[in-house]
Amino acid sequence: MLLGSDHMRMLINGEWTDSDGGEIREVIDPATLELLDIVPEATREDVSKAVEAAADCFPSWSAIASRERGRLLYHAAQRTRESLPDLAALLSREQGKPLIEAKGEILGYINVLEYFHSVSGSLQGSYLEIPGVGDGLVTHDPLGVCAAIIPWNVPALTMAWKVAPALLTGNTVVLKPAPTTPLTNLKLASILHDAGLPKGTLNVICGDGVPAGECLAMHPLVEKISFTGSTEVGRRVASNAGRALKKVSLELGGSDPAIICSDVDLEKTAKEIVSARFYNCGQACTSLKRLYVMEDVADHLEELLKESISAIKIGRGLEPGVGMGPVHSAIQLEHIESQLRSWKDEGEGRLVLGGGRPQTELPGHFLQPTLVRDPSERSRLLREEVFGPILPMMTVRDLDEALERANSSPYGLGASIWTRDIHRIRKAVNGFQSGRVWVNMHLRVPVEIPFGGCKASGIGQENGLAVLQEYLRTKTVVLGQ
Ligand code: NAD
Repeated sequence: MLLGSDHMRMLINGEWTDSDGGEIREVIDPATLELLDIVPEATREDVSKAVEAAADCFPSWSAIASRERGRLLYHAAQRTRESLPDLAALLSREQGKPLIEAKGEILGYINVLEYFHSVSGSLQGSYLEIPGVGDGLVTHDPLGVCAAIIPWNVPALTMAWKVAPALLTGNTVVLKPAPTTPLTNLKLASILHDAGLPKGTLNVICGDGVPAGECLAMHPLVEKISFTGSTEVGRRVASNAGRALKKVSLELGGSDPAIICSDVDLEKTAKEIVSARFYNCGQACTSLKRLYVMEDVADHLEELLKESISAIKIGRGLEPGVGMGPVHSAIQLEHIESQLRSWKDEGEGRLVLGGGRPQTELPGHFLQPTLVRDPSERSRLLREEVFGPILPMMTVRDLDEALERANSSPYGLGASIWTRDIHRIRKAVNGFQSGRVWVNMHLRVPVEIPFGGCKASGIGQENGLAVLQEYLRTKTVVLGQ
């Protein structure tokens, strides 16, 4: 990737475009702080052009059979697979994650496109005979232009979760990547385009929340906003959408609890906890963020966690053997460190491991993987979402106490119970206030079933057949006799 005339551009109406205003944004490698590329910063006018292009091609795109639209997603998936090594390296460099995780994310993107291709025959209306009235028909129509606004932590996957179902159902899309991770999204859009997506069907604009994100979400021709990001910004997007009466879905932050009972294989569980917390440097919405452990096994589990966490190799994502990259940005690092400082100032609990910056030659935003024991429930480490490599571990007497404390968070994205006891599993499945419950696992988000949060973690669903309804409008017809 080069500066000058050869930088990445936005995709508007099938053309690679610079901004009308001529402003640019630098994309920086978070491990080395090297400049990777520059991208244009969309103005209000650029956003309007992208939305108008999407609106212009909506009638022709929505008229195509859904099986045909699905086939196109399938072709794009195959082409993406051909570019897997390059895409994974690009994602690792701009986001910071280890290459193996970047590769997994691109494979996840491909899997989502293939899944929506596989269900492309299931878009159907229904018919009902209504005695004494006539015939009832229920149809599901695409909405029009959908805005897809996504974060930087898993940019390829969140793009797939939105763009694939929106396109399959006959909508057209304007995608706005996060300002710090636009490059992989632009490459993936170019592959979709080369696979035969008609001009204007998918447009990608670059830039931050203001003006780009806000102008996009508030554009009068946008019918639906699909937003993934922080709860704070999600509230703002929702209130703007509410005033304009736009359909909106919000996939927001999380502070997922896990409850560890005494009957599990502790060695195996410790390894799985470490990967569920420190995957992507702890920067996943469904990372395991609060650990509640039965008191009779807590000390042993702490030892096993220490061992496993100490073995994580920190470094640049592209280096072989690296298990954890940097925090994504200086702002994020400062935020996480302020959460740690507040906890230290409170003086409750104990630092088991980490808590500072690691020794490294690299100038990037690195933080040691950190284990904290028994902070108070009032601590910011438990009340707020901690989007980084810190694991707070709390001791509990029994499942009732664990569930009460697990549910005391404002968030309700995921939660897990680790036990072989079916009665405890039932109790936890019923008791957790969360959109997803895992049993003896955490973090996995298979595309085949719906995924979404409750409480401050969002509104609406991603994935599964359920997401298709998020991009459709139900129309009913009553035919008189
Ligand atoms: P963020 O809220 O800062 O930004 C998300 C996106 O919104 C970015 O593209 C940003 O430019 C845009 N944006 C900012 N202000 C806007 C505005 N006023 N109007 C419209 N768009 C605006 O979030 P982030 O820091 O990029 O991502 C991290 C957050 O995302 C975490 O809280 C994480 O839990 C959450 N997340 C949730 C899920 C999920 O499925 N629930 C998945 C991934 C990430």
